Amino acid sequence: MSDRRKAIIVGAGLGGLSAAIRLRSMGWSVSIFEASDDVGGKAGSMTLDGYRFDTGPSLLTMPEVFEELFIEAGARLEDYLTLIRLDEICRYFYPDGTRLSAWSDESRFAVELQAATGESPWNLHRFLDYSERIYRTAGDLFLRRSLRERSTYRSATFWRSLVRFPAIDPIRTMARAVEARFDTPHARQLFERYATYNGSNPFRAPATFNLIPYVEYRRGAWAIEGGTYAISKALETLARRIGVHVHTGTPVGAVTYEDARRGRKRVTGVRADGRHVASDVVICNVDISTAYPELLDEENAPELVRYRKLEPSSSALVFFWGIRGINRLLSSHNILFSGDYRREFAAIFDEHRVSDDPTVYINITSRTTPSDAPAESENWFILVNAPVDSGQDWVTEAQRTRATVIRKINERLGIDIEPQIAVERTMTPADIATNTGSYRGALYGIASNSRAAAFLRHPNRSRRYRGLYFCGGSTHPGGGMPLVVLSGKIVSDLVLHRES
Ligand SMILES: Cc1cc2nc3c(=O)[nH]c(=O)nc-3n(C[C@H](O)[C@H](O)[C@H](O)COP(=O)(O)OP(=O)(O)OC[C@H]3O[C@@H](n4cnc5c(N)ncnc54)[C@H](O)[C@@H]3O)c2cc1C
Repeated sequence: MSDRRKAIIVGAGLGGLSAAIRLRSMGWSVSIFEASDDVGGKAGSMTLDGYRFDTGPSLLTMPEVFEELFIEAGARLEDYLTLIRLDEICRYFYPDGTRLSAWSDESRFAVELQAATGESPWNLHRFLDYSERIYRTAGDLFLRRSLRERSTYRSATFWRSLVRFPAIDPIRTMARAVEARFDTPHARQLFERYATYNGSNPFRAPATFNLIPYVEYRRGAWAIEGGTYAISKALETLARRIGVHVHTGTPVGAVTYEDARRGRKRVTGVRADGRHVASDVVICNVDISTAYPELLDEENAPELVRYRKLEPSSSALVFFWGIRGINRLLSSHNILFSGDYRREFAAIFDEHRVSDDPTVYINITSRTTPSDAPAESENWFILVNAPVDSGQDWVTEAQRTRATVIRKINERLGIDIEPQIAVERTMTPADIATNTGSYRGALYGIASNSRAAAFLRHPNRSRRYRGLYFCGGSTHPGGGMPLVVLSGKIVSDLVLHRES
C-alpha cells in the first residue's frame, strides 16, 4: 500500500465514512473533517434523563451493503455490530380499528393480511414477485453506478436493464401499480407507504420504487443493538482502526483550489482549524446546498441553482418521548395510519404543512436494546412526515401536531399517554437543517416524485473542479442508509479510476 495520494472528506455522515474506509483500504491517506463533536450526521444519537434515542434512521435493510464495506477493509461486520433480524417488521393500526403485523415470514404475513383485511394471499405473493423483478432489473444500475459517467452506458449492466426496461414499471405511479395489484384499501395504504422511504409521494413517484417492499420482505429488515447510531460508531471505529484520521468538532471553512487548464479549477485541499490542509482530492459529504455557498463561496453555482429548483424530499417532525411503563400493544416499529393518505401527501408536498390527520410512526429501540430506557420504561421516537422548512412557524406546528399525535395514540391504543411522558424533546425540519446542513431539512435530498428524478440528482464528480467529488443523500443514488453507503462506494470507485 502507498500513502502518496491524499483525500479529504468533508463530513462524517454515513456516506463520508463509507468513502473514507474504501479509499483508505485502497492505500490512500484519508482525513475526515466533521463539524459536529460526533460522527454520524443524521444517523446520530441523543440522551435525555437516561433515555437514549436515535435522531435519524431506525430500520436497517440491505445489510450486505455494510458487510461489503467491512470486507473491503479486511474486517467482519459481526465483530463491530450486532444485527437483530426482525420477525415482526412493523405493526399497523388503521383508523377503522383494523390491526395487523407485517411478518418477515411471507406466508405468515399473507395469512395475517387475509385474516385482518380480506386481501387474497396471492396478491401479496404476486406483488412481491413484481417488486423483486423491478429490483433485479434496475437495482444494480441505479444503486451501484454513477448515472453521469459514459462508462455506465457502455456496461453490460446498463444493456441488461435496457433490454428489460418495461419490467421496471417507469410510467405509472407507485399508487396506481399498488391499486392494480391489491383489492383492499388496507393493503394498498400499507404498500403505498414505501414511497416515504425516500421522502416521496406515492401518488406521484414512479412505480419503479415499488422495488422497496421486495428489499424489506424478501431480503429482511433488522434492528441494531445500540440503535442505528451504533452503525455510525462502528464505521468510525473501523475507519480509525485502518488509519483514517477522523477530526470531529472541526468544520471545514473552505475547499481550496487553483486555476487549471481550459478554464477549470484544480482542488488543492481545505481550510479547517485555522490552517490549510493539502490533498489531491476533496469529497464533500455535506449537502450540496451547503457545499457550494459555504465551501466554494459560489452562491450562484449553476449546480446549486438547479438543485434548489428541484422538489426536495419530505422532512419530519420528530417527538422524542421517554415513557414510563411498557405498552404491550406496540411492537418495536409501529404505524398509526391516517384516514386519507392522498390528502396527507397533498398537505406535505402541495400545501407545505403537516397534515391535520398525519400517519404516526413510533419506533421503540428499548425493545431490542433494553439499556436505551430505564427499567419498566420505553424510549418512543415518534415521526410524522412533514414538509421541508419554508419559514413555517414550527413552534405552533409542533404544538398542533403533538396534540393530534396524542389524540391518535389514545384512540388507537385505548390508553392515556400524556401522563406516561417522563421527558420529551421535539425536532423540527428547521432543526434538521441546522444540525446537519441538509437543504431545508430534507431527509433524503431531492424527492423522487418524477420519472426524471433519478437522473437529476447531483453527480458524484464535479465537472468544473478537478479533484472535487460528492457523496451522501443529496447526490446520486440518494438518501437512506444503504444508499448513502453506496454513494461512498460509487465515489471511491470514481476517485480510484480517475485519480490513481
Ligand atoms: C429524522 C430522520 C429519519 C430518517 N429515517 C430514515 C430511515 O428510517 N431509513 C433510512 O435509511 N434513512 C433515514 N433517514 C435518512 C438517513 O439518515 C440519511 O439519508 C443518511 O444518514 C445521510 O447520510 P449522509 O452521508 O448524506 O450524511 P449526513 O448525515 O447528511 O451528514 C453530513 C455531515 O456533514 C457535516 N458537515 C456539514 N457541514 C460541514 C462542514 N462545513 N465541515 C465539516 N462537516 C460538515 C454534518 O455535521 C454532518 O455530520 C432519516 C433521517 C432523519 C433526519
